[in-house]
Amino acid sequence: MVNFPSPNEKVLPHNIKLDKTPSYHEKDEVCDRIIGSLLGLAIGDALGASVEFRPQQYLSANPVRKMEGGGTWGLEAGKWTDDTSMALCLASSLITENCFNPYDQMVRYKWWHKYGYLSSTGHCFDIGQATRQSISEFSQRQKILKIYYRCRSEYEVDRLSLDSVERINDFNINCGDKDSAGNGALMRLAPVPLFYFKNPEYAIEYSARSAYLTHANKKAIDACRYYAALIIAALYGYHKQELLDNNFYSKHRLWFGQESLHNDILEICQGSYKKGGYEQGIRGKGYIVSALQAALWAFWSDNDSFEKGALAAVNLGDDTDTTAAIYCQLAGAYYGYKQIPKDWLEKVYARDLIVSMAEWIHYRGSQLGLEYIKDEYILPMLTSIDNRKVSEEEHQQNLNVSTTSQSNHLKDKTRVNDNLNSQKRNNSNQSINNDRSFSSYSSSNISNNDITLSNHDHIRFSRLKRFTKNNQYDDITIKTHQYPFYRHMRNTDPD
Ligand SMILES: [Mg+2]
Repeated sequence: MVNFPSPNEKVLPHNIKLDKTPSYHEKDEVCDRIIGSLLGLAIGDALGASVEFRPQQYLSANPVRKMEGGGTWGLEAGKWTDDTSMALCLASSLITENCFNPYDQMVRYKWWHKYGYLSSTGHCFDIGQATRQSISEFSQRQKILKIYYRCRSEYEVDRLSLDSVERINDFNINCGDKDSAGNGALMRLAPVPLFYFKNPEYAIEYSARSAYLTHANKKAIDACRYYAALIIAALYGYHKQELLDNNFYSKHRLWFGQESLHNDILEICQGSYKKGGYEQGIRGKGYIVSALQAALWAFWSDNDSFEKGALAAVNLGDDTDTTAAIYCQLAGAYYGYKQIPKDWLEKVYARDLIVSMAEWIHYRGSQLGLEYIKDEYILPMLTSIDNRKVSEEEHQQNLNVSTTSQSNHLKDKTRVNDNLNSQKRNNSNQSINNDRSFSSYSSSNISNNDITLSNHDHIRFSRLKRFTKNNQYDDITIKTHQYPFYRHMRNTDPD
């Protein structure tokens, strides 16, 4: 069980202690790379924080050579900014929810913005314009949910299940603007491909959805898709020449589904960054095409040194922390945790928490088959029952039915595949919307005992009000996840 504190507890990241992953969790080379990528992101961010917004000319005269404090934000050496805070919000959601829950992700971004959740200082002090606008838009849109479900507080709205949220046609989780082509989605990307490392196709789809929440421009989305593919390939142990092969995209075209990449991103795939650095047009700017190009240029020219590449990314100037954070996500996955300079590992803020989160990502990602089975049968089933009271006996009956269904299901793998294909046929627009799709891939090795236990742990009943077409409210009963995080928050209403 992983419990993160609630935002109103104001626990700073270095004081957050997560339980260890189960003893049977094997921390292999992939785990080392996952830690390298997530911790690398934070290290790149911290390296560039003190000189954020400084032009290249300044850094040419005063190059960064070590992890320093002060400067732009006056942070202590090793402390990081919005890039890492948002990545940790995303990672905490994936770990806690054990699936891709975009509503929960936006809630956590809002907590960071509003309450300083998972900030190195306890406050949100650095935020991009597109991100700010999308979080603000999300907060506004939550009012629809608050009215619909008659929530009495922000806390109740925030803890709504994804299924409840998706049933409201007037509510759209995706708050990104079509014109938002900044690097704000790419800077926080890593947790998604790290979590879905077992399936590149889904890792890339979810990376697109992750970006879409705050940056809806196709360039921003496709940059995340392409970079997710590179991170996955790095986890798999690809050599650098394979990662930076100009034909990488065409060789792995199946990973990307039907949607091809934007031409500007395709040019980068084909090696537009392989040139002489700042003098030949590489820029560490906030524009997504520049940012992606700069990070890949640093990776291409780093002489197989994480340290050299990270410093080169910072010393391009401008959006120094983000360029380095993007570079380090890939470089950390490629070189692994052990290749990061010891001095930086010692200085980076809240290292133990980030390592622990990376281990949970690896553990959860390794166990996805189990979780997808859970989702297929335990995610909400909505029943409209007027004035119905759900008794404990009825609750238990439902659990038993659900467990029996799962047992039968596990014995019939063909049916799983039929369900999957049916879902894909019937709901092609939302195929990635649903973790259930994954269940067919690795369902056969799950014991029934695991599922029985998980039922008790994850199901709860909620009674909510549904606003009808006749301007009346119906009582509805919803079975949803028992969110461990929200259980922790229950008695600590931020309102
Ligand atoms: Mg930043």
